[in-house]
Amino acid sequence: MRKSTFSRTELSRAFGIDMATLGTGSAGTGFSFGKVAPGVTSEPHRHDEIEAFVVLSGAGKVRTDLGESSVATGDVVLFHPFEAHVLHNDGVENLNFVDVYWRDGKAALAAAAQVAIPRGPIFVFSTPPTPNGDLHLGHLSGPYLGADVYTRFLRMKGVEAYHLTGSDDCQSYVATRADAEQSTPAKVARHYAHEIRATLALLDCEVHSFLPTLGDSAYAEFQAACFGSLLSSTAVDLRQSPALFDAVTGDYLYEPDISGLCPDCGSSAGGNICEECGAPNLCHDLDAVRSRHSAEAPVVGSVRRPELALERCYDNIDRHLRASGAPVRIMDLFARLRQRGDFSVPITHPSDWGLPAEGLPGQVIWVWPEMAFGFLYNIQALATSLGRDWNAALPSNDWQIVHFFGFDNSFYHALLYPALYAEVFSHWTPRIRYHVNEFYLLDGQKFSTSRGHAVWGKRRLAPGTTFDLGPVLGFYTRAELPVLNEEEA
Ligand SMILES: [Zn+2]
Repeated sequence: MRKSTFSRTELSRAFGIDMATLGTGSAGTGFSFGKVAPGVTSEPHRHDEIEAFVVLSGAGKVRTDLGESSVATGDVVLFHPFEAHVLHNDGVENLNFVDVYWRDGKAALAAAAQVAIPRGPIFVFSTPPTPNGDLHLGHLSGPYLGADVYTRFLRMKGVEAYHLTGSDDCQSYVATRADAEQSTPAKVARHYAHEIRATLALLDCEVHSFLPTLGDSAYAEFQAACFGSLLSSTAVDLRQSPALFDAVTGDYLYEPDISGLCPDCGSSAGGNICEECGAPNLCHDLDAVRSRHSAEAPVVGSVRRPELALERCYDNIDRHLRASGAPVRIMDLFARLRQRGDFSVPITHPSDWGLPAEGLPGQVIWVWPEMAFGFLYNIQALATSLGRDWNAALPSNDWQIVHFFGFDNSFYHALLYPALYAEVFSHWTPRIRYHVNEFYLLDGQKFSTSRGHAVWGKRRLAPGTTFDLGPVLGFYTRAELPVLNEEEA
């Protein structure tokens, strides 16, 4: 016998309510205590385990895929595998319950087999890689293997599914690499896009549409049209706002040009995003910021740029994330962003590398908003190759989009893009699901293409290599990799 005591006053937030884990067992069993305060609703979720709620006190409503039912003290509700469920307290006192769950493989398989095959096509995207280097094992075991396995599984089940990706040519990191290699950004992008495709082929990763964003005039026209409609959106303002410049060279600084401390978590971060906590930054709000051009502290000046006032989009984002069943780490990132209050994101930057921002001489459309619309263009490019009529300018509610990406892209994919879509395509209710992977560490540090700190895909893959599925097991966790010797390659 083992005895433990839990305190009803020391609960932690989980699924939007207050909970305490009472115990876990083998084979996916566990039980918890839960408290739903009056007026509070738990976050909807679904999972393969069978789950039961035993209501100890209070009253409320349980909603599932099949409907709604009142519950009160003494009631026991059972949820089948994958049945979405929500608990709402519509009473005046706390609703206390015990939650028990266990895994039953046969029941889960039977429930999964009953799921109807979706009507519309499913577009599975792995993040378009930045062509500033080849793919490393972290990329491959993360988004690319994940999207490949997922697409193959859907197709095996008779679903119309496609794996799409491309090379994200207009990234500022490409221009930085070109400077280091004394080359041009266009040459660097073409070279590494070629290497990336070769590595994906070695992985036997089946890609149905690979879209390079350079040198396609129809792509540039579509981006210009989306940018134009963003400029006329009520969530976008043209504003003069603070920006960083190099103290010696006078260069405008963002993304790889700077490093500092994240305003949200205090970790080391680059310009515009923190890879540690996923939070966006505005460059001038980094602490202890340093320029990589001259190693001096930058000068704060200002630039006139169109900015998306994200706080005006929070309701749209919230609705979207709830409907998409976004992972809890994305919901947490969104909650932290909201706590920061008003947050305006520039959608252009002064640069000579990227798609020109019409009406703003010397500025380019920021590559991240570009990617949002690039996904839709990629669907249209796939349609052209298949003889279908999917139109990037008229995204359909029948489309289902699934994204695979590393956690550091969460802000862009799951928070910024739904906001942009709502501004440009008011008729469209995007159906998007998000699969987020964590990162491998090498010698205690995250893999980095720009720092050359990684185990490269081509070193581990050769024609006929059987790829070890071990990394898939680490897909959702931060895993330590042993240091590999040169001889092992
Ligand atoms: Zn951070």
